Amino acid sequence: MTETTPNFADYEHIIVAFSGGKDSLACLLHVLDLAPEDRHKVELWHHLVDGRGDNFMDWPVTEAYCRAVAVAFGVPIYYSWKEGGFKREMLRQDMPTARTIGETPSGNIQSGGNGPDGTRLKFPQVSANLSVRWCSAYLKIDVAASVLRTDPRFEDSKTLFITGERAEESSARARYAEIEVHRADRRNGRKGRHIDHWRPVHGWSEKQIWKLIETYRVNPHPAYWLGFGRTSCLSCIFGSPNQWATVQRIDPDRIERIAYYEDRFDCTIHRTDTIQDRVAKGTAYRVDDRYAAIAMQDYYDEPVFLDDWKLPAGAFGESCGPT
Ligand code: SF4
Repeated sequence: MTETTPNFADYEHIIVAFSGGKDSLACLLHVLDLAPEDRHKVELWHHLVDGRGDNFMDWPVTEAYCRAVAVAFGVPIYYSWKEGGFKREMLRQDMPTARTIGETPSGNIQSGGNGPDGTRLKFPQVSANLSVRWCSAYLKIDVAASVLRTDPRFEDSKTLFITGERAEESSARARYAEIEVHRADRRNGRKGRHIDHWRPVHGWSEKQIWKLIETYRVNPHPAYWLGFGRTSCLSCIFGSPNQWATVQRIDPDRIERIAYYEDRFDCTIHRTDTIQDRVAKGTAYRVDDRYAAIAMQDYYDEPVFLDDWKLPAGAFGESCGPT
């Protein structure tokens, strides 16, 4: 425990934002370690980048992997998304951004969808500035905040919202506070919505993250077995040349789709290179075809716990991703 570790008994809800990646997995394991008696309050939230529609940016297996982990640990998981996901937002032309849908214990809730008209017609731009790198804000951060503001469960109650950013990842993340008031908090408002935002692994090294995952013997997301150092979107705008060359190897149609939209928008997914340039500059990871097949399925029937646990190929590797 550190001096910023909250008192779990103070909260009615403990939400772990779970991408399926190693850092948010470590957050879940750490909370279960620290607060076994408050386990019944813990729930996982996963934001579906592509919404409930066609897979466009994300790993096809991620939704199922997240559910398998939730089931294995006996904690509920709720999905939330912007209708139409990444693709609809990217193709927005003179129309408002879409509604947000969130699963809750008593059914789906929705919010938004009636804002001002706007046009994107381009990929999000590689930047720490979330107004041009719109995917992180519109498809994850704002989605969570909308659900927190809309679900009456969070009124007149205290919620601990947990995310897995680490200082080691970037200078922008190093500046994040370990604990702060969440942007959806209105503790002094009419609805008494008290929400604290805790980043329990902010000061952790990658070694500490993998050590905890090893202790629980959790099978990491298939992306790590394929050599990726991070489980962000499969087609993350921050992808390195080697990652794009690997995407070309396991899902060439995806590269073609991105190239099609680069032509249509006259704007590349990378600041200066076309997607084909990015692929050509890289060398694909040595891909295990079995894991490639698992990663590209929309179901997950691998074991969640491994008797013979070992570090995946992507551990301590290239970890290009959102900063
Ligand atoms: S993982 Fe990459 S592409 Fe996906 S939402 Fe985050 S920054 Fe955008």
